[in-house]
Amino acid sequence: MADKSLVTEMHQVQMAIELIELGARLQVLETETDLSRARLIKLYKEVRGMSPPKGMLPFSTDWFITWLPNIHSSLFYNIYQRLIEDHDCERMGAFVRAFRLYLEQLSLESAEPVLGLTRAWTLVRFFESDLLELCECTSCQASFVVHAHTPAQSFVCGICQPPSRAGKTRKRREAAAHAPARQADQLTITALVELEEAADRRSA
Ligand SMILES: [Zn+2]
Repeated sequence: MADKSLVTEMHQVQMAIELIELGARLQVLETETDLSRARLIKLYKEVRGMSPPKGMLPFSTDWFITWLPNIHSSLFYNIYQRLIEDHDCERMGAFVRAFRLYLEQLSLESAEPVLGLTRAWTLVRFFESDLLELCECTSCQASFVVHAHTPAQSFVCGICQPPSRAGKTRKRREAAAHAPARQADQLTITALVELEEAADRRSA
């Protein structure tokens, strides 16, 4: 820590606080900052008013492929990727911004978020280690999260081809999927960024 500049350290503390506020687990903070575990725990307690939860992070890629989580994960990852590629955001800056935009879109549609911050971070890490990738649906042309090496020629997404569950559950799930699906299809990241900036102005 001795040779690290005060400004760098301050930025890391700010990022850690923002991540904690959004629901990050301790492992996320330990991986993404150089701050000591003891400091992070202290920070966590100050921000949340309680000790960080213990236990392992979710490690399986399968959760992101199940139906409703897949639609939410795909929406989030599309936002994240566009912030990185089109808006030149750096990795963690893009991550936090994408997660805020994801939450904002769902609240506008009165839909419940399915993807927590720690899950979203795990998703990005799975992409970075080439366990997951995006694949274009052959029917609607939107991009969805899939296991790496999924054959693209025949891929159809979970919105175009929902699982065949009978009755009410299916109807409710389709309604729940409708909002994020529509956003993934139609909303451009520019519109999302404008929304975010308008919200910033309102709160300023
Ligand atoms: Zn589709």
